[in-house]
Amino acid sequence: MVLRVAVVGSGPAGSSAAETLAKAGIETYLFERKLDNAKPCGGAIPLCMVSEFDLPPEIIDRRVRKMKMISPSNVEVNIGHTLKDDEYIGMCRREVLDGFLRDRAASLGANLINGTVYQLDIPTSDRDPYTLHYADHSSGSATGEMKTLKVDLVIGADGANSRIAKAIDAGDYNYAIAFQERIRLPEDKMAYYNELAEMYVGDDVSPDFYAWVFPKYDHVAVGTGTMKINKAKIKQLQAGIRTRAAKRLEGGEIIKVEAHPIPEHPRPRRVVGRVALVGDAAGTVTKSSGEGIYFAAKSARMCAETIVATSNNGQRIPTEADLKSYIKQWDKQYGMTYLVLDLLQRVFYRTDATREAFVEMCADEDVQRLTFDSYLYKTVVPANPLIQMKITAKTIGSLLRGNALAP
Ligand SMILES: Cc1cc2nc3c(=O)[nH]c(=O)nc-3n(C[C@H](O)[C@H](O)[C@H](O)COP(=O)(O)OP(=O)(O)OC[C@H]3O[C@@H](n4cnc5c(N)ncnc54)[C@H](O)[C@@H]3O)c2cc1C
Repeated sequence: MVLRVAVVGSGPAGSSAAETLAKAGIETYLFERKLDNAKPCGGAIPLCMVSEFDLPPEIIDRRVRKMKMISPSNVEVNIGHTLKDDEYIGMCRREVLDGFLRDRAASLGANLINGTVYQLDIPTSDRDPYTLHYADHSSGSATGEMKTLKVDLVIGADGANSRIAKAIDAGDYNYAIAFQERIRLPEDKMAYYNELAEMYVGDDVSPDFYAWVFPKYDHVAVGTGTMKINKAKIKQLQAGIRTRAAKRLEGGEIIKVEAHPIPEHPRPRRVVGRVALVGDAAGTVTKSSGEGIYFAAKSARMCAETIVATSNNGQRIPTEADLKSYIKQWDKQYGMTYLVLDLLQRVFYRTDATREAFVEMCADEDVQRLTFDSYLYKTVVPANPLIQMKITAKTIGSLLRGNALAP
């Protein structure tokens, strides 16, 4: 075996990459700075992730089968009755999901290093190794013991503030800031959110995104996001969602407050030399929904599969061109999904009139079926032309009724 690969970061992306590499017998080093990391996140995952990533049932704390879309004028549309009995959105705790994926990768042979990677030295020739400088925390000391590791290939799975992206000059991306409060509710209030998630739209909760109340293990996550980044503004928007959901959150106790960037689009360069970025480090979150867990895991698996194939199961060192074929395949498979969701966000999250139209449109069963199928299975099954035409006509009708197309 020739190839040695370092995977930096063990969120859904890093652990999924390490699992695929380790399964193929490739010498894999998986770095994680914080083994009990609880990534700030709503924790919603699509049904297809459960089967594709072989997640055991206990990873899913709650199975959401009902969604409430709530318009700026508080019109509520219930969605979910088109779901089949065995269909749901999975809600999980990130510390549980991430821990499971990481341990599985390690049990399959990845060398798990509890360490923070501080620096990556780029070789001058395309045969020499990359050198990672990291603080090893395994001894328990707070600062860690400085060490180095030489590898042939690096996967940057270290999230939105990726050091690996900086080291390879991958370029910046725009990002939104998401803010979230974890609130423990009295039992009767929590019962309301048992299988239910809520999405609120309106200028008061976000000028360009949505706000949410998602049920978690034994509490709810209440949050919002915006690209118009400004500390005072995000607090004002969070106050907006707290006001809108006030009755349902009555008697609640805040147990945690968190905030984190959400990338808005891919970085200009996702592969440089023998370094590839995956997940949030690459910028794989979708617009409109802000969904990133599945796309992080999937992009990482695709990248690792490319490495396994082009290295002939670790017998040769892949080149930049080999790694770039992962990007090509990714853009081909998901380019349209990103485009459509970007367009949806631009059209419908623009003004309160377009948001009213959006919520009205969500009442339609064909729209619900299409939306759920695309979210749960990530395969946009084209609706038959008649339904497609019906949906288009309803979309335009909703927009016109709300005077949403006025400049
Ligand atoms: C408030 C909020 C709510 C969200 N809700 C949802 C949701 O409901 N559903 C959804 O699908 N997506 C959601 N997202 C997006 C989702 O959280 C991310 O897209 C996802 O976590 C990306 O996974 P990742 O593995 O690429 O990166 P991360 O999950 O960020 O993992 C990166 C890992 O790398 C480690 N790391 C970082 N730097 C280093 C270093 N130098 N050395 C060693 N280790 C390092 C970190 O500790 C971390 O474990 C939300 C995001 C936010 C901010």
